[in-house]
Amino acid sequence: MFNNNQNRGSFGPREMVKGNWKCSDCQKEITELPFEPAPDRPIYCRDCWSKNKPPKRNY
Ligand SMILES: [Zn+2]
Repeated sequence: MFNNNQNRGSFGPREMVKGNWKCSDCQKEITELPFEPAPDRPIYCRDCWSKNKPPKRNY
């Protein structure tokens, strides 16, 4: 199932996706995410997300 947001591609008011996940890194419970998580990808809490995020690249 695909939920297509009508306002995709624009950074409007932050829409939090409610759910029940666990951080793949620190196992912390995550109840909301600022994006729709892909089921086949690890989910990180905010801390680990910024920790695991690749450094800024110059395009
Ligand atoms: Zn974490």
